[in-house]
Amino acid sequence: MNNPLSSEVIDELIDVLGKDNLLMDQLSRELASSDIFLWPEAVLAQAVLRPETTEQLSKALVILSKYKIPIVPRGAGLSYTASVVPFVPGIVIDCRNFNQIEINAADMYAVVGAGTTWEALADAVKPLGLRAAQISPISGSHSTVGGTASQNIPGGLEHFIGLTVALPDGSIIQTGSASQIGNNSFSRYCGPDLTGLFLGDCGAFGVKVSLVVRLTVDRPACFSSFQFKTASDMMDALITLRQRELVSRAFSMDQLKAKSSSKVDAEEALKIVKAVASDASSILNRVKNLAHLALGRNELLKSNWSLHLTTEALTTEIANAQMDLAREVCIKNGLEIDNFVPKTMRAKPYSIRGMVGPDGERWVPIHGVLPLSKANECMQALQAALKDKQSMLQSVGVSYSWIISTIGAYITIEPMFYWMDQLDEIHITNLSPRNQNRFSGRKVNQPARDLVREMREHLRLIMGEFGAVHTQMGRFYPYLNLLTPDSKDFVERIKKALDPNGLMNPGVLGLS
Ligand SMILES: Cc1cc2nc3c(=O)[nH]c(=O)nc-3n(C[C@H](O)[C@H](O)[C@H](O)COP(=O)(O)OP(=O)(O)OC[C@H]3O[C@@H](n4cnc5c(N)ncnc54)[C@H](O)[C@@H]3O)c2cc1C
Repeated sequence: MNNPLSSEVIDELIDVLGKDNLLMDQLSRELASSDIFLWPEAVLAQAVLRPETTEQLSKALVILSKYKIPIVPRGAGLSYTASVVPFVPGIVIDCRNFNQIEINAADMYAVVGAGTTWEALADAVKPLGLRAAQISPISGSHSTVGGTASQNIPGGLEHFIGLTVALPDGSIIQTGSASQIGNNSFSRYCGPDLTGLFLGDCGAFGVKVSLVVRLTVDRPACFSSFQFKTASDMMDALITLRQRELVSRAFSMDQLKAKSSSKVDAEEALKIVKAVASDASSILNRVKNLAHLALGRNELLKSNWSLHLTTEALTTEIANAQMDLAREVCIKNGLEIDNFVPKTMRAKPYSIRGMVGPDGERWVPIHGVLPLSKANECMQALQAALKDKQSMLQSVGVSYSWIISTIGAYITIEPMFYWMDQLDEIHITNLSPRNQNRFSGRKVNQPARDLVREMREHLRLIMGEFGAVHTQMGRFYPYLNLLTPDSKDFVERIKKALDPNGLMNPGVLGLS
């Protein structure tokens, strides 16, 4: 659908933002109207705004509110729940020009623009021996701090301690201790937790301009990996590790996921070795390290289910002692294997290589965050559902793999689908030049698209039966309709107070 903006609106927006920050060309609008999955309901954005200052954003919002034009705030657009995909004609606000980083090491926080990438923040604080306390997504080489804060992440959002938000009427508010005149951003809590109101809102309540992120000390870590014959054995170990709070991080993958994530080209392998090994400078040591990497990969590929653990503590000795306790749990039904996976994840935490499969397949996950007591049963139900459809999936060339992880007192189960299909512009622009050539020009695989869409719905329902909750809800996961009537009414009243014309990202969270 092409729904042009009136010349009046265009002129007023150009007055505020300048010509270069109002994009109206087809490619920019297409890119800004997509995420990495397929949404037949998607509508082409009328224009893309790229404000550079809070003042520009505020003035633009006043104009959009005057003309009642819907708004979709956008970070890198690397989600897959139609959170950033307009379903009605409107304007996309690309927040990536808000990318400043101000570090207050003494008070252990950083104020960062909403469009800052996680990798840029990590690089800025690393020389000080610090890192963001907030868990961040693997896509953090490209995805933004504002995007994560707006859609949640398994592991929670408690380390965002303050926000600056532009409300739909253009007013600019601050939350956390900095909201008090003359104060700074050192604490999230001072009166009602207004920061929490805007976290995980999928941009339905306002546009985040900047965020205050708690910093923490980058502590020594220890790593171990184990293999298990069955998902159930792995899950039992994972749940015990979490119930006893023995590890900082744990995640598991099945054999197929291990195969696709360890299939790296020579250049990528060298980058991994450089990131992980401190002695990778000489050619001989590089060869040795590459051989070690290949050996570790072989072990990984033989594992039905591999489980990868990280402990962090004040000293390496304490982290090792904690890992010994975790090891006792895992070797009951598992076997220890090379630990290059968690080591690599720590040394090189961000990458969007996984956005497509190793041979350029399309990729899309679905996830559920489960209570510890229900995770194993839910996993079995999901496995049974996928086995049931195995021949249909195979007939249209769809394969699936799994990532299971725990950061808080719950388990995240994430099945993911792969299939050969045409890639979209958002994939192509993010691929290396070599892979752009290799993976472009493929034909649409409609039967696979239809089946993947159907399977995502099916698995989402199964997860719901086991009490799963979800992050990055967007326009895909249920929220409003799962609330008790009074809670639903309360959320709708908040939305109405902040956004009386329903212009901010209409449809996300089930809010019209
Ligand atoms: C290869 C790959 C790996 C991934 N790994 C992970 C992972 O480990 N964990 C995980 O949870 N997810 C992961 N994801 C999904 C996704 O990348 C992340 O959830 C990421 O946080 C999205 O950030 P973004 O900047 O792309 O946000 P977008 O997709 O642009 O936006 C997400 C939501 O935030 C809103 N929003 C964005 N910016 C603002 C703003 N300034 N103000 C108000 N609202 C805003 C949007 O409207 C939308 O509702 C991965 C994706 C890929 C492709």
